Amino acid sequence: MRKPIIVGNWKMNKTIAEAVEFIKAVDPVCHDGATFGVGTSFLALNESIKNAKNLIIAAENCHFKDSGAFTGEVSVPMLEEIGLKYCIIGHSERREMFGDTDETVNLKAKRLIDAGITPILCIGETEAQYDAGETEKVIREQLSGSLADLCPKCVANMVIAYEPIWAIGTGKSATKEDAQKCCAIVRDQVRVMYGDEAADNVRIQYGGSVKPENIVEYMACPDIDGALIGGASLKADSFIDIINKVK
Ligand code: 13P
Repeated sequence: MRKPIIVGNWKMNKTIAEAVEFIKAVDPVCHDGATFGVGTSFLALNESIKNAKNLIIAAENCHFKDSGAFTGEVSVPMLEEIGLKYCIIGHSERREMFGDTDETVNLKAKRLIDAGITPILCIGETEAQYDAGETEKVIREQLSGSLADLCPKCVANMVIAYEPIWAIGTGKSATKEDAQKCCAIVRDQVRVMYGDEAADNVRIQYGGSVKPENIVEYMACPDIDGALIGGASLKADSFIDIINKVK
């Protein structure tokens, strides 16, 4: 049985004080029906980890090298030191604005897995690719590159977030049928690459304008094991609403 996993991706939002205030409000509401967590800025990770008993705390990026002349970057050993357990990698905003590629995302996944940190790997097609009917091809290609040369058990323990770019921050969420279809393609591609154990255990999230009003219908889909949530994860009230709807 795959345990559902709901993660808020705060992106470049919330100071340390705001992060702690949110965690104090939301942490006690978490329940065993799912893993709940938030991705915070690097700066807020340490205090967030210290204040969270139930919520898992994720970084939103990492570098694949351990140290060196990479101005402004944060390495996996630095994240390990503060007890971090999850890290989002390959978010479309990082791919579009900061040059992340399937190759660098793959290196990040490998380094995180070596450190015992669970990668939350993001993939998804652009609006133009969706309009051109290329969604399945894009999903399979991104996974082939990002998941290359890992061990089946490692992939079984990962989280993959399918986030169609046209649905991110637009209020234009994918239909539950489309989201299910694409998450099933993700699972099939994992099966092709790493076999049944990896495919049956990897947790797949849908992301893109998820909110309290639509979380239940996504969670009812057989291949959707959770959600990666941007805007609706920023307010404690709306995240609590989502937590209470995932049972
Ligand atoms: P929204 O929920 O704001 O559409 O953002 C989704 C996202 O990018 C999560 O990683």
